[in-house]
Amino acid sequence: MNASLALEQTASAHAGKTAYTFLNTSATYGELNETVTRFAAGLQSLGLQKGDHIALLLGNSPHFIIALYGAMRAGVTVIPVNPVYTLNEISYILQNGDVKAVVMLDLLLPATENMHESLPSVEHYIVCESGDERAAGTTASSFTIYSKLKAFSELIANRDILQCPDIHEEDTAVILYTSGTTGQPKGAMLTHKNIYSNARDVADYLSITEKDTVITVLPMFHVFCLTVVLNAPIVSGAEMIILPAFSPKEVFKAAIEKKATIFAGVPTMYNFLFQFPDSNPADFSSIRLCISGGASMPVSLLEQFEKKFNVQISEGYGLSEASPVTAFNPLDRPRKAGSIGCSISNVENKIVNELGEEVIPGQVGELIVRGPNVMKGYYKMPEETGAAIRDGWLYTGDLARQDDEGYLYIVDRKKDLVIVGGYNVYPREVEEVLYEHDDIVEAAVLGAPDPDYGEAVLAFVVQKGNSLTEEEVLNYCRERLVSYKVPRSVEFLLELPKNTTGKILRRSLKDQIVKK
Ligand code: AMP
Repeated sequence: MNASLALEQTASAHAGKTAYTFLNTSATYGELNETVTRFAAGLQSLGLQKGDHIALLLGNSPHFIIALYGAMRAGVTVIPVNPVYTLNEISYILQNGDVKAVVMLDLLLPATENMHESLPSVEHYIVCESGDERAAGTTASSFTIYSKLKAFSELIANRDILQCPDIHEEDTAVILYTSGTTGQPKGAMLTHKNIYSNARDVADYLSITEKDTVITVLPMFHVFCLTVVLNAPIVSGAEMIILPAFSPKEVFKAAIEKKATIFAGVPTMYNFLFQFPDSNPADFSSIRLCISGGASMPVSLLEQFEKKFNVQISEGYGLSEASPVTAFNPLDRPRKAGSIGCSISNVENKIVNELGEEVIPGQVGELIVRGPNVMKGYYKMPEETGAAIRDGWLYTGDLARQDDEGYLYIVDRKKDLVIVGGYNVYPREVEEVLYEHDDIVEAAVLGAPDPDYGEAVLAFVVQKGNSLTEEEVLNYCRERLVSYKVPRSVEFLLELPKNTTGKILRRSLKDQIVKK
């Protein structure tokens, strides 16, 4: 079973339906499917075969979808890479991932020239035109440097007949490099079954159909986007409005002009949309479902957002190793603020203690998951795979609890737990309190070594104006939290460091503390 079959099936059921719009272009499912087949044949004409690896160094654009589905159709494994990573990060992934071909934007060509010598496995660079004038000239000059440089459009124009490879459901479709908890990024191998089943299960659980129009603005290289607003719409024949980058203005414009029905974002995107001064409560009037995931959604933000825009935010949870979705708030039962909802169809979530035994409702333990979405393992890392998957269960490293009705709540990441004089402090709980303050826009809480108590709680805060003082924030916390949870100090920042997916980079804040 090939995961790209989803596109073939949708194209045969809804050939004339718009698959995507992107800037001034659009394509129907029939056209997209044809382009994908041509790209797959083009990869074969370059000599790429089933089992070879191809990296995508692309931003949000149709190129990404064509290359992803084209490679899967040819049995070639796809490694999506964040194109704004540093050269070191990119070359680590290309080397570790044994990448034979790279699909990239012309803008990145000059940077790749420096990297090329240390990447013996890369045989081809397939270059997409970005339409950005900064790329002018780079393609032509670089032709002399790489003998095997190909233009994306040239590869698509190739009319060779595709030799359909024999793909099994356990064959690796995608490898996602995830930073994990320690050390170098690890490549989570997702099979054709993993990719297809999670897209299908998410689409069913959230009732995504061909009537939906989905805003695809999360970064495509990240698994949240890949499954929830790319593969799930393709499985269901929904229309994708692809936005090249996140901006509140463009999201509202897309929602209004295209009458979008689904928006998916990480909590920081919701925060930016909420704070955007030119928004109007009617801007999201066509949206039937707002999806949040990737990080915990502060309850006060969720409630304020829902009130302002008269929508419901459904929070879900996932991780790269699970393709990613394991739980979502259901549509046919009450949505619970602060909860990631219940297990989606076919996936089991369980909370266990240190001995791996299931705990009773209300007790905190590690969340473990099992289902057709759980990865095959980490690429070339059998030990790490053995530590992550035990007896068929994936250990997520996240602490959670469950209520009597089966709704799950992420308490925090296991490694982010702060222990103050023997007491557990979950940063999320302190952050929730800070987010409730009218003048606080963003907050992150973490632990730092303390000679007396082992660890101390520190808060980093972005405030609305500049009138708040540290003492005021501390007093505010003292009124709402037991003393050991009250931050030792509050540092005001202009913004919190975030990755391109919008997740707050705790590690970078920790590094700042260590430096100090
Ligand atoms: P990634 O593999 O980059 O998608 O990161 C997965 C991690 O993001 C999970 O292990 C969680 O720690 C975190 N995460 C994802 N969704 C949520 C959520 N709704 N609430 C809290 N943490 C989340």
